[in-house]
Amino acid sequence: MKGTCPRCEEQPKSVQAETTHVIVGGRERKAIQFLCSSCQAILSVQFDPRERDIDLSERLVRDLRSQLRR
Ligand SMILES: [Zn+2]
Repeated sequence: MKGTCPRCEEQPKSVQAETTHVIVGGRERKAIQFLCSSCQAILSVQFDPRERDIDLSERLVRDLRSQLRR
């Protein structure tokens, strides 16, 4: 069963992905939005997975530094 666009009710042949930003707690984060190829309606938005990797790296460095201070 194929999904239909909630705006134009077409079954998009493909979905366009574009970079965008979302604001979380006042901090701008990279995200990806998925657009209907027929009418450009936004179908979905998700965090850029690369952004999550950067977050994880930052947290690991912070945790390791705090461990070294003990
Ligand atoms: Zn559409």
